[in-house]
Amino acid sequence: MKFKIILALLTTFGFLSGYAQRPEPDHVNTKGGELTIQPINHATLVLSYQHKNIYVDPTGGADVFKSIAAPDMIIITDIHGDHFDPKTIDAINTTHAVLLVPQAVADKLPATTDKTKLVILKNGETTSQLNISIAAIPMYNLPESPTAFHTKGRGNGYVLTIGGKNVYISGDTADIPEMRSLKNIDVAFVCMNLPYTMDVATAAKGVLAFKPKVVYPYHYRGQDVNQFKSLVNAEDKNIDVRLRDWYPVAK
Ligand code: ZN
Repeated sequence: MKFKIILALLTTFGFLSGYAQRPEPDHVNTKGGELTIQPINHATLVLSYQHKNIYVDPTGGADVFKSIAAPDMIIITDIHGDHFDPKTIDAINTTHAVLLVPQAVADKLPATTDKTKLVILKNGETTSQLNISIAAIPMYNLPESPTAFHTKGRGNGYVLTIGGKNVYISGDTADIPEMRSLKNIDVAFVCMNLPYTMDVATAAKGVLAFKPKVVYPYHYRGQDVNQFKSLVNAEDKNIDVRLRDWYPVAK
């Protein structure tokens, strides 16, 4: 009996669930109030602003979003399972969610998905949703090849303008000119892992080209992000490289 009570308490406070080691969220001040950044796992994160929640590449099942309010917007970068997971989308409450995706993802949405709030963006297009402006940025491998993991035009990186702050989500990309030429990025999420995206040194070079104020290495499974931080800060001490645990071990 006692054991059951303790178990119930532990479960209530999240100690026994998959998000037990979810990193603490970060907070950014914007003209419209606080933006909260919650890393979830690998390429998955939640942004919260003015009581709206934006799930980016939600994967991992409903449990990893436990205690986070349902999404008002879901943004998906590409078709691969670590970014687009129909099972997770089915499992979470999407009743109020705008679903923002590239065409290739729209083509793979199950028939059961509610498509009334579907917004499809091509590279270079922009939209405004929930008082947030969203621009789709190319993401692709170099050298370009029809057999690459990521061909140009299929997936979207995104720049979200939230309360005057520009937030860049790279998606799966190499050190492409479209990333290098970004301006006034306040917060960037940049991928790094071979063979799917780029190595740590290449990611550091790309980041040094567009100089975001804050950068989170994400989508970095198996990579040395301390090395990334050293490489970036050796050239530019003003870039705030934020290392977070994007691979929390579920208990
Ligand atoms: Zn990926």
